[in-house]
Amino acid sequence: MKAVTVAPGTAASLRLQDVPEPDASHGSVVVETLAVGICGTDVEIADGGYGWAPPGRDRLVLGHESLGRVVDPGPSDLVAGEHVVGIVRRPDPVPCPHCAVGEWDMCSNGGYTERGIKGVDGFMSERWRVEPDYAVRVDKDLGILGVLLEPTTVVTKAWEHIAAIGLRAFWDPRTVLIVGAGPIGLLAALVAAQHDADVHVLDRVSSGRKPDLVQRLGGTYHTGTMADLGLAPDELVHGAMEAVAPAGVVCLTGVGSASTPGTPSQAMPATDVVLKNAVVLGSVNANRRHYHRAARILAAADRAWLDQLITRQVRPDEAAQAVRRAPDDIKAVVRFADT
Ligand SMILES: [Zn+2]
Repeated sequence: MKAVTVAPGTAASLRLQDVPEPDASHGSVVVETLAVGICGTDVEIADGGYGWAPPGRDRLVLGHESLGRVVDPGPSDLVAGEHVVGIVRRPDPVPCPHCAVGEWDMCSNGGYTERGIKGVDGFMSERWRVEPDYAVRVDKDLGILGVLLEPTTVVTKAWEHIAAIGLRAFWDPRTVLIVGAGPIGLLAALVAAQHDADVHVLDRVSSGRKPDLVQRLGGTYHTGTMADLGLAPDELVHGAMEAVAPAGVVCLTGVGSASTPGTPSQAMPATDVVLKNAVVLGSVNANRRHYHRAARILAAADRAWLDQLITRQVRPDEAAQAVRRAPDDIKAVVRFADT
């Protein structure tokens, strides 16, 4: 079968090639790929800056934002024809206390693996296998939009953790400010809107579909300030700490690009954190619970709105184009088959 592979650590190594059928060790459920989304992590892997091939191999099948159709459910309770998404992370084999209770997104020893990222083949192949427990059903009516499930899990988890921290004190959140209107930012705006928050999104782009997408959620779109959204994470944290209300929570879901050379890094504003009783947290990945919640969020969302998030669809032989970002891209998707 055909697969899009990379040699982790080597830039511009991405290619479409013939690979063996998916290994039975990956699970008893056989899935036909419909689409695979591209995110910043894929771009970084394709640039040689991240990623690990499976043990004993040089190349890794790319892709962790999956959507597929069950071909052979094996002994699972899935049904052929259902649409599923594969969970990305697998618990470490020890396991650590987090992985032992299914919270592998919080793995404390770093021994986890991730499909398409760390030590296990991803989903950017014509077929893939998955363990029944790691296949999440998605509403078939979503069609191609089911490929947005995995990025939605990232914001679902972040929202859950923010709410958990909020409960340390009187918690009646009103205003949510999201910095950056990429796919994660816009999906975060969707989640916040579904929780009846007053949603504000800040991005450097002033035209195109991003302002409209935020307004259609009932939110307010802003441009400029917050160090004009310089990609240096330190500056963003500093700006967020200045802007956050007392008892507020600042959640970082991405580390952005490296600081612009020559940009002085600002110290963590400890005074703001202390005097505002504020919390800064980081959030990455998701566990099974977040996939199920994310599936509900997508099912409840306006399909026409979700449809606007997918700005580009390419064929597998054009995958190298999908990892080169166009300025007005929101989400690029490699399309394998019709839904
Ligand atoms: Zn672990």
